[in-house]
This record gives sequence, C-alpha cells and structure tokens, in this order.
Amino acid sequence: MPGCGWVRFRLSAKGKGAWLPVAKTFRVTYRNGQWHIAFAVIPDPTPAPGTGEVIGIDRGVRITAALSDGRKLNSPQLTVRERARIRKHERRAPRAPKGSARKTAAYAKVAGLKAREVNRRRDWCEKTSTMLARSYDLVRFEKLNIKSMTRSAKGTAEQPGRNVRQKAGLNRAILAQGWGLLRRRTEQKAPGLVEDVPAPYTSLRCSACGWIEKKSRKSQADFVCVSCGFTCNADENASINVAAGQGGIPRPRRTAGAGGVTTATGRSSAREPQPDRVGIPHF
Ligand SMILES: [Zn+2]
Repeated sequence: MPGCGWVRFRLSAKGKGAWLPVAKTFRVTYRNGQWHIAFAVIPDPTPAPGTGEVIGIDRGVRITAALSDGRKLNSPQLTVRERARIRKHERRAPRAPKGSARKTAAYAKVAGLKAREVNRRRDWCEKTSTMLARSYDLVRFEKLNIKSMTRSAKGTAEQPGRNVRQKAGLNRAILAQGWGLLRRRTEQKAPGLVEDVPAPYTSLRCSACGWIEKKSRKSQADFVCVSCGFTCNADENASINVAAGQGGIPRPRRTAGAGGVTTATGRSSAREPQPDRVGIPHF
C-alpha cells in the first residue's frame, strides 16, 4: 500500500478469492471505526437458466418482495433489542458533557448500529438479486416511483399537510426496504432481462379472472374477487399480475355493454389511489 507498506486484510467475500489476481484497482475506506478494502472487478454476467421462466415481483412495506410463485421475501431489519440500544445511546449522547469521550462514544454506537442495518439490507439485496438472476429468464417488477411515494407530507407554512409524522414513518419504512437497490442489482446481474410493469391495477385486478374492482381488496392482506370468488393473499395476487406483464393487464373500459370480463363497473371503482395525491400509497 503506498505510504504504509504491506497490509493484511480479511477476505470477507467468501469464495471470491479467485477474482483477486484479476483486480486492477482497489479502494481503501474508513467507515464507522472500520477499515475496508474493495477490489474493482467486472464479473461475468450471471447466466440465465434458459428455462423461459418468468417471475413477477410486488414490493411492499409488510412484505418486501412478494413473488408470483407464492414466496414472500423480507429484507432484514434491526431487532427490537438493537433498536432499543440505538434509542438508549441517542438519549445519553446529548446529556454527556461537551467534548467528552463519553459523548463521542455514544454517537459512534448509534452510527455503528445504523450502519449495521444498512449492511444487512445490502447483503440481502445482493443475495436476492443473484437468486433472481440465476433462476429466471425474465424478472418483472411493478413500476414504482419511489421518489414521489416518499415525498414529505409537510406542505407549506400557509397550507400545512396532515398526518406529517405518520407519512414520515411510512417514508422511512419504504426507504428501509431497499426496493430501488433490489431492482437495480437484479438488472445489473441480468442485463436486459428485467422489465417494469406499470403499477396501476396490479393490486386491484383478480389474477384468476381479470376483473378489476376496488372492493375485491378486502384488507391490506386479503384479496377476494367479487366476480369469481378467487381468494388470495393481496400481495401475491398483485405479483401474479405483474408476472403477466403489461399486455396481461388490459385497461378497464369505461363504457358498459362491451361485455368483456375486464370491464369495470365504474370509473371510481377501478381507479387506484394515486400516491402523489393521497399521500399514502396503496399496496
Ligand atoms: Zn376473479
């Protein structure tokens, strides 16, 4: 290492040692009391299985990723105890005397615990995206505008927003899921095999008969089709719709009489709440 000579390091990426001779550059960083070394290698793309299998993924707050094959994947969060420890140090830090070692240590503990959560989430995203790239020939995500979904509800001084704290909590929960990272890493590992499906109607459409009706969504968790009685977990139902792709979800016709199975009874019943307008998105 320029400046300090030979340095030992631990290879934390298990089984990736074969890549080391290929690496041309490296970067050393210091974060939260730990030194890290990263080697830059462009890996071979993850080979697609070639089975033609398609998977749909619906991302949510309760279930991070509901898969159209019925699997429900959750990104790891901090445990209750870890969160309690963060609160404890956050409480103690401001009370410690100015410039004291105790104050520095308390803030460092908070930062360390928060970094742990981020590391855990990133690790999960890496593993999950590799699994998706390896097992499917086409991965469909519902198209989300995370930026507009996590917009603050604060409003302006003249027109203050409502439920600002609740929305802030929801925003935090959304960002804590790592939705964007999961999609981005899957795309990088399986270039050209990731598709975005427009989100409207995916959560209101019956994946069995195609009927789109707001009333089918009994609760956050349950989907019961008012037309055919198909019962399913709401997130799973949405992910099956996502797997069907853009062509699989016809727009409901507004005029009655056409007799198509996807004809909605009314405009209001077929419309999904708009995240920007309502403030709280619908999952
Ligand atoms: Zn149905």
